[in-house]
Amino acid sequence: VAGADNQIFERRESVVRSYCRGVDVVLAGGRGSLVRDVHGREYVDFLAGAGALNYGHNDPDMKVALLEYIAGDGIAHGLDLYTDAKRGFLQAFEDLVLAPRGMDHHVQFTGPTGANGVEAALKLARKVTGRTNVIAFTRGFHGLSLGALAATANSTMRMAPHNALGGVTRMPYDGYLGPGTDTAELLAAVLADPSSGVDPPAAVLLETVQGEGGLDQASPRWLRRVAGLAREHGALLVVDDVQAGCGRTGTFFSTEAAGVVPDAVVLSKSLSGFGLPMSVVLVRPGYDLWEPGQHTGTFRGNAHAFVTATVALRKFWSTEAFTHDVHRRAGLVTERLTALADELPGARVKGRGLMQGVQVEPALAARTTRACVDAGLIIERAGPRGEVLKVFAPLTTPDDLLEHGLDLLAGCVLAGRP
Ligand code: PMP
Repeated sequence: VAGADNQIFERRESVVRSYCRGVDVVLAGGRGSLVRDVHGREYVDFLAGAGALNYGHNDPDMKVALLEYIAGDGIAHGLDLYTDAKRGFLQAFEDLVLAPRGMDHHVQFTGPTGANGVEAALKLARKVTGRTNVIAFTRGFHGLSLGALAATANSTMRMAPHNALGGVTRMPYDGYLGPGTDTAELLAAVLADPSSGVDPPAAVLLETVQGEGGLDQASPRWLRRVAGLAREHGALLVVDDVQAGCGRTGTFFSTEAAGVVPDAVVLSKSLSGFGLPMSVVLVRPGYDLWEPGQHTGTFRGNAHAFVTATVALRKFWSTEAFTHDVHRRAGLVTERLTALADELPGARVKGRGLMQGVQVEPALAARTTRACVDAGLIIERAGPRGEVLKVFAPLTTPDDLLEHGLDLLAGCVLAGRP
């Protein structure tokens, strides 16, 4: 049946498709952490829109707010005109996110995608510092549009040297050279040495947990050291929280546990809470040196996204219960993945919060993804060889459904062993 369902995609859509290679069913609907295909079969969703659906599918409160807004003929798209929807979002963001954390950052609306946000942040860092070089890290992922691509490590995605814009120096991420080498000190040495050939950077760009790169994470100590180096060398610390932000790791920003406040933070994916495209860069006011109209884009004013984002912020970030639930569920995932890894030689658990996964043999990971679809679970992989099975359930997944998904995952991994 799947073959017949898929004919138009095979015939007409560009071969560049990726996720559907592992998940070849045609999806029709979703509610919470479950999706269903056109035949009504249900699947537990551990992909969650690649991190864009932290609150699951069709959250009832966001849905009602959006339907009311549309029924009242609210502005759908407002460029950067002042709209009531944007005002509501900014107020909620100030009240619930910025003010409680003592952050005075300005909010720049940068368009629909994470890559749009990353590029805006880098462009601004270059403008602020008058420098061009950007320090990025091994296995970092920052988007695939030409500018963001330069900072993305994956060479398959960069394809050929001519695809990468210049001006990025890639340094080893925390742990990349093994436990014996502190890569923050390596960065310190390179930046301190004028003969290193590494130009003084405009920005140090990093993820605190590498969402696509394989769920490696930076220790709080490493992050603090790198933040200190950025400051010392006059570069902006730009944290790409496109995937790890908006609560994925258990705090709104993934840097909170380390006590680091970046000069610029990029948010996208789950910011709207409903899967609607939206990205922002938060920037310290002293660095908000754009001239009016200098960095524009048509779709900076997605009012529908502002409406649902406002509900998402109000609903979850005004209470501690939500974060508490995320931590409990994260503990459950750690426990279950650790038990699974114990049964597989060489396997290990990676990541933190609800951004965890289990690293297995790449071929086993690939087999598992496909077997999971048959078993009723949608799951994707990360890492340079697709070796990390990524448990990316919506933050709101009820414990029993999370357990059920983890059961399906463990069953498929163990059944797929050679
Ligand atoms: N940064 C990170 C950390 C990401 O995970 C992604 C998307 N996977 C991006 C940037 C790019 O976002 P988008 O695909 O919306 O351009």
